Amino acid sequence: MLSSLALSLRLGVSAAGRRSIATVVSGSKTSRLVRDRLKQEVDQMKNLFSGFRPALVVLQVGDRDDSNLYISSKLKAAAEIGIDARHVRLPRSATQDEVLRSIMAVNEDSSVHGLIVQLPLDSAHPMDSELVTNAVSPEKDVDGLSCINAGKLSRGDLGSCFIPCTPNGCMELIRQTGVSVAGKHAVVIGRSKIVGAPMHDLLLWSHATVTTCHSKTPDLPQQVGRADILVVGAGRAEMVRGEWLKEGGVVIDCGINYVTDERRPSGKRVVGDVHYASANQRAGFITPVPGGVGPMTVAMLMENTVQSAQRFLLRDQART
Ligand code: NDP
Repeated sequence: MLSSLALSLRLGVSAAGRRSIATVVSGSKTSRLVRDRLKQEVDQMKNLFSGFRPALVVLQVGDRDDSNLYISSKLKAAAEIGIDARHVRLPRSATQDEVLRSIMAVNEDSSVHGLIVQLPLDSAHPMDSELVTNAVSPEKDVDGLSCINAGKLSRGDLGSCFIPCTPNGCMELIRQTGVSVAGKHAVVIGRSKIVGAPMHDLLLWSHATVTTCHSKTPDLPQQVGRADILVVGAGRAEMVRGEWLKEGGVVIDCGINYVTDERRPSGKRVVGDVHYASANQRAGFITPVPGGVGPMTVAMLMENTVQSAQRFLLRDQART
């Protein structure tokens, strides 16, 4: 006989007795598929080009705990795929000129195909992070944060730029739902360089009609209620409520927020920008937090690095 929990799961009924409607779009599963495919592509490259491997440099200034954690997950993913990932660490005492010189050295190193500067910069000196990200050669800018890559993306020149990893991961998750973007009304909450602005561009050039909201947007619930596809990157814990959503829409939650939870040994837990329990009752598809957009960001960094190495090989062949 089925337990009541198993029966509830089969019928799609939550523990609170309400029916859960949304299909969960798993970033953990999708990122695994992407990483398996990339591993095959890297193996092929190694076989065809006598041991050639894509190489990625992660440049870190300082020693922030959160940055250390993000970097270790990037290095681990790279190692699994067969990417040669190198961690270059500069101390907090490094000056902006020293950081720029390190970037130039990697730009000129033809054995490296991808370079990311881990943000935020944890330096004892004033740093212009815009200047630093723009110092990365556009051909190696696998985070897609330089003005050149952002400009290409905003003009719809998607084939020749690097697309920022988080929005690229969101697009992959939207593809997983099988919902076509063309002709839909998409709403993006947030306009940052890393998430919101490139997300707007990607949805636009995938032929959605896009509304981008920010902290000065009046009546956010009304905007959200028009979204066939909603992507949220606001950094506000559980801000978007289920009641705001258009029924059956796609909800992609980029948020990573830590809230107090005294039941956990750590005293905290991670939640998204969307109130999952209520959104799950109304959306057609929803990404969980954790296990949604987060794992996709790392997978897309690997994708960009492999793509950069492939472009490098093509340029190399064209020269010879
Ligand atoms: P930013 O703080 O740079 O940008 C937040 C954006 O949200 C801004 O454009 C801001 O508007 C807007 N915003 C803030 N509050 C509101 C509000 N009440 N109503 C409407 N808009 C609002 O954050 P990021 O873009 O870097 O990150 C966004 C979220 O995504 C964070 O939770 C972050 O942790 C997460 N993230 C997750 C990643 C992943 O791998 N999963 C990667 C990167 C980020 P305004 O411009 O007017 O200030």
